Amino acid sequence: MKTTAQTFAELGLSEATLRGVAKHGFVHPTPIQAKVIPVGLQGHDVIGCAQTGTGKTAAFVLPIADRLTHGKGIRCVILSPTREIALQTKEFLDVFGQGHHLRAAVLIGGVAMGPQTSALRNHPDIVVATPGRLLDHLERRHLNLQKVSEVVLDEADRMLDMGFHRHTMMLSATMPFAVEGLARQYLRDPMRIDVAPPGTLKEGIVHRLYLVDQGQKRTALLRLLKDERGPTLVFVRMKHEADRLARFLLSEGFDIGILHGDRSQRERTEALSAFRTGHPRILVATDIAARGLDIPAIAHVIHYDVPQNAEDYVHRSGRTARYQATGVASVIGTWMDLTSIKAIEKLVGQTLPRCTIEGIPAFVETPPKRFGRLRPRMRH
Ligand code: ADP
Ligand code: MG
Repeated sequence: MKTTAQTFAELGLSEATLRGVAKHGFVHPTPIQAKVIPVGLQGHDVIGCAQTGTGKTAAFVLPIADRLTHGKGIRCVILSPTREIALQTKEFLDVFGQGHHLRAAVLIGGVAMGPQTSALRNHPDIVVATPGRLLDHLERRHLNLQKVSEVVLDEADRMLDMGFHRHTMMLSATMPFAVEGLARQYLRDPMRIDVAPPGTLKEGIVHRLYLVDQGQKRTALLRLLKDERGPTLVFVRMKHEADRLARFLLSEGFDIGILHGDRSQRERTEALSAFRTGHPRILVATDIAARGLDIPAIAHVIHYDVPQNAEDYVHRSGRTARYQATGVASVIGTWMDLTSIKAIEKLVGQTLPRCTIEGIPAFVETPPKRFGRLRPRMRH
């Protein structure tokens, strides 16, 4: 990915924030950062769309860090669709909020309330939360949002279940038309910032579609895992399927981790941090890992099940080729997935290259002739 030729200083950020940026090693803003930061600094509402791995987190964190000063109550709420993304965003806030001594509290489900209520008593300026746990704390009056002036919906098309009439920034790599309409009801004259048309695939990803018979999916997966050596994220649709596939891969001698919503938060956090270090090199996950996770080393995303929504293909595949890295996204599909595959190809505006694995017969897509003969009335 190209960064811009601009500097962060040109975007209007304060000295204190610029020091944080420099310390973190960012030199040039990415395109979404160059566009969102000046507008965000002015307090304009934003709906921002940019490909996966192009720095949307810093695009909202930096202007917010700049607009806030410590000790005036909770001024900012950032909503994330998953606990893992919330934790990741907190790390950005700690780095970039340092200049203004900002404190962030993370409110996510699956872990004890106690440490979170302590964090809330410790005068946070920013709350990063998943919606369910935020509501829990609100109901128990552990916090109130009266002073909140900044709201961010990260992965906005997933997050639209709360309305705030405040400075709101929404970012995602996808933004279906209907969802944008909903978003606009909550925003004041938002500026729509598109770095690329929504649904655009990140460059640097090589896409491969393997069409096989249902009975060959596991064999195909084994081959892909053996052929591509780097850290690999394997997506399945269902939690029980994740467990089943995990057992199978373990029995085949692979060292793997599992991430899905039926695991405890502790198991989820452990699986993710182990995978971040590269051991195990394979993580089997449901769509809970489809969005937002930034693990730069991921080299290969395998869609063992074709995603149900075309948008999910963009997000899942976007777990590789972060920032300027490259990677591979492979789909293992059967004839039953052809409709979903067509929907994906329509959204992303390109055909997924058909590939084959030596020794595994490929499913041939062209409808066989007998199809026409069986339903002659379909012919014109
Ligand atoms: P997105 O939310 O768009 O998917 P992230 O905010 O997770 O992307 O950022 C992706 C990666 O790019 C992260 O590892 C982040 O540290 C890195 N990154 C973001 N902005 C810059 C920049 N201006 N210069 C260098 N690296 C950056
Ligand atoms: Mg993100």
